[in-house]
Amino acid sequence: MRRPLVAGNWKMNGSRSQATALIDGILQGISEENSIEVVICPPFVLIPLAAECLAVGNGLILGAQNLSSQSAGAYTGEVSATMLTDYGCKYAIVGHSERRALYGENDAVVAQKFGVAIENNLTPILCVGETLAQREADETEKTVNDQLDAVLQQHGIEAMVKTVVAYEPVWAIGTGRTATPQQAQAVHHFIRNKLAVGDKNVAANIRLLYGGSVKASNAADLFNESDIDGGLIGGASLDANEFIEICRAAVH
Ligand code: PEP
Repeated sequence: MRRPLVAGNWKMNGSRSQATALIDGILQGISEENSIEVVICPPFVLIPLAAECLAVGNGLILGAQNLSSQSAGAYTGEVSATMLTDYGCKYAIVGHSERRALYGENDAVVAQKFGVAIENNLTPILCVGETLAQREADETEKTVNDQLDAVLQQHGIEAMVKTVVAYEPVWAIGTGRTATPQQAQAVHHFIRNKLAVGDKNVAANIRLLYGGSVKASNAADLFNESDIDGGLIGGASLDANEFIEICRAAVH
């Protein structure tokens, strides 16, 4: 039985006061008894504040949006895995399409970051997904397959035991255009089947999230699909009530 997971990716949004209000709002709507895991991924500079807000143990889990591919040293502007775990981060988003498209993170870099996360006990939320051009060229499965292979070839199927994969079609991120539940389920099913070739147990237990314009109004239909175990939420994670509704939609 896979425990559903909903993760909020705040991206580059929020001030100290907005973050405090957002966390307070979310905490009012979720409780520690929740049968799902709820993760927030604030910008790096808000992680210490978020860690303080969550210190009392209230069912919210802290994650990061990114991490350095290096462990420590002369890497100006970078943030290491151990800096994140020091603040209690349990998850790190790896290979988000905005990092791939805007910051030149290719499959090799993504695989390196993935490895650093695993080594440091941070669960990677590995993002994969096709662009609109790739979908229209009928290359969705090939794209997702290649993105997964880049990580699997370096780290093996064993690394997937402690990994979450987020299928995020690039054309659905921040666009208001969501994949239909059937479109999302088809790709999730493809991912689970692919992983099953390496190890059936790993495939059966890994959590696969959908991301791309998830809102309170469409979350339940997406999360009801058999291979969708929750969501990676961008814009809608900045509104406490909307995010809480999305979390509730993931409870089965
Ligand atoms: C994301 O950034 O991972 C994302 C899914 O964004 P949005 O929900 O805004 O489409």
